[in-house]
Amino acid sequence: MELLRNIDQMRRWRREVVGEGKSLGFVPTMGFLHEGHMSLVRDAVADNDLCVVSVFVNPAQFGPEMDLDRYPRDLDRDLALLREAGVQAVFTPDEEMMYPKGFRTWVEVEEMTDRLDGGSRPGYFRGIATIVLKLFNLVGPSRAYFGLKDVQQAMMIKRMVLDLNLDLEVLALPTVREADGLAMSSRNAYIEDEDRPSALKLSRALQVAREAFAQGERNAEVLVKIARAVLEADAKLKVDYVEVVDLDRFQPQTLIESEVTLALACDLAGTRLIDNLILRP
Ligand code: AMP
Repeated sequence: MELLRNIDQMRRWRREVVGEGKSLGFVPTMGFLHEGHMSLVRDAVADNDLCVVSVFVNPAQFGPEMDLDRYPRDLDRDLALLREAGVQAVFTPDEEMMYPKGFRTWVEVEEMTDRLDGGSRPGYFRGIATIVLKLFNLVGPSRAYFGLKDVQQAMMIKRMVLDLNLDLEVLALPTVREADGLAMSSRNAYIEDEDRPSALKLSRALQVAREAFAQGERNAEVLVKIARAVLEADAKLKVDYVEVVDLDRFQPQTLIESEVTLALACDLAGTRLIDNLILRP
């Protein structure tokens, strides 16, 4: 497995090792890898001739109040996991290379990033769209893999690829969970044992809403209320949003007549947790 530490090395590997005829799978990550990331990596390895994973904690998607400095990192462990998974190359650029002095160009995907994580975190999706486009330009993948854990992000990237005529396929794969239902996340490392029962309320809230939906409830406001009640019953959780939105424009729905997502976000002792569920009538 090759470690590509800068843009020149990435470009040379793309040119000399991948070349024209081979398919290349790409998984962008911020590292501190877990089974959620590895499920994407395994598909990328299986579907393509070659696979490259990037590990880059993107400062442009962190607000001033966010956890950029304390975001968990362990590159040696990440590299061991990726080597074992059969990845051919890992791209680990640094901040100065990706955002050199004078950097001024940003990508913005309109409307579908206004609410949910975009509403709560100004600049968040612009930071993601920009870094992902830069990575796509450097890596030149045939297929890129994203997790539905970040459903708004995955759909935004699909939209960007369509709108900007990028010649690659975007795949969005299901959320991987711990045995107790907690959606895997690098930020779960922050959760203290005593707060774990509160963290579980996110998946619990979705499960209760899913059951109501399975029994025929199609009123989005009712489902939101049901999920919100589970979260609000826990004194440690501060609810940021609970919303039912469509997967195209990410705007609130009243009656569920086509595919939607019920998405939620909470703060638990200073850690931001998100989860979602896709509902198909
Ligand atoms: P991150 O390192 O958090 O930026 O995530 C990198 C990629 O892994 C993104 O496409 C995420 O959506 C995906 N991902 C993170 N957690 C999970 C999970 N629990 N299940 C599936 N994919 C995930």
